[in-house]
Amino acid sequence: MPIFEKLDEYRYEQLVFCHDKATGLRAIVAIHDTTLGPALGGCRMYPYATEEEAIVDVLRLARGMTYKAAASGLNLGGGKSVIIGDPERDKSEELFRSFGRYLETLGGRYIVAEDVGTSTEDMENIRIETSNVVGVDVTHGGSGDPSPFTALGVLQGMRACVEEVFGTPSLEGLTVAVQGLGHVGSNLCKLLDEDGANLIVTDINREAVERAVAAFGAKSVAPEEILAVPCDVFAPCALGAVVNDETLPGFRCAIIAGSANNILHEPRHGEALVERGILYAPDYVINAGGLINVADELEGYNEQRATKRVLRIYESVKRILAIAKRDGVPPGVAADTSALERIAAIKSIERLHTGHPYGQMTRRRETL
Ligand code: NAD
Repeated sequence: MPIFEKLDEYRYEQLVFCHDKATGLRAIVAIHDTTLGPALGGCRMYPYATEEEAIVDVLRLARGMTYKAAASGLNLGGGKSVIIGDPERDKSEELFRSFGRYLETLGGRYIVAEDVGTSTEDMENIRIETSNVVGVDVTHGGSGDPSPFTALGVLQGMRACVEEVFGTPSLEGLTVAVQGLGHVGSNLCKLLDEDGANLIVTDINREAVERAVAAFGAKSVAPEEILAVPCDVFAPCALGAVVNDETLPGFRCAIIAGSANNILHEPRHGEALVERGILYAPDYVINAGGLINVADELEGYNEQRATKRVLRIYESVKRILAIAKRDGVPPGVAADTSALERIAAIKSIERLHTGHPYGQMTRRRETL
């Protein structure tokens, strides 16, 4: 694979290979863009079949984090890392400590967090070697379970969409269909119930459904029915790609707003939703509550401040919907525009000298 061509394509700043024979560490860190701040993104551990597969994955994920952080108003850039290995078999203290040492050499340009295949315990091992890690144990200043914050962010994004469609941000009396009652879905149901929404729920886990029916008076439907159930808002909180060629004709909702990643199977499905008159809340913006919460650890975790920032997802979605109208594009495209406009605006700030002998200059990528 011509790697430099690949880096040129989306202007990646850096791709770092970390190799430690003794511990078996084979990791790759991708830093996409640090205009807004240090690149923050999770570390995925996965037994990639080839190195090329790992590189493609880490680059794609790192770029996604740039957009997510920028559109969410965070002062963070986009990055991600992968460890090639089986999380069931290949984990050890020395592996993660070795990775932590490599991260320390990056001088804070990349901040790691947990992701698929890694855990708080792994972050704790990384933390022994570097402070450039978030998502550590609460006893070490960690922010704990991100799911309630993700759910709160989804609710805020939903409110912005409801206001756009129904003229008021209130969910009272509206019917919301929630697919998936796991960590995020169950918290979301609680918030929606408090707001006076009527709930229709489903999950492949029967106990989770029974709990929601008992706690919130929710109506339950079979998993295969939820996509076509008549409702005001459909909230996918289980799987990605739920909006696809097969499911599209069936939707009987005004809004799709949920926590799942990659809700649209392909970008063209965003256009198709516009044609069908369904308002889609861009997934990576409305599910950013967990990221916003964990990023707060960088300032010494403060739940109140994190909550305040998560509440701003309402404004982020409003801004994106305004861009969608201005440019005549689907909200998913407008979310990318919102991110790129913010990065360009910050890049354009006049480079006047601030009296700091060299500090500000070292943060600039261009040569002075
Ligand atoms: P989870 O594993 O706790 O919950 C998922 C739930 O979906 C489970 O209860 C599962 O039984 C159910 N489910 C699986 N397949 C289903 C199907 N076909 N029909 C109905 N239900 C089904 O996961 P979570 O942490 O609640 O995350 C939910 C989604 O949100 C995921 O896509 C995740 O990537 C995304 N997300 C989560 C967070 C977070 O903070 N947890 C942040 C951003 C994005």
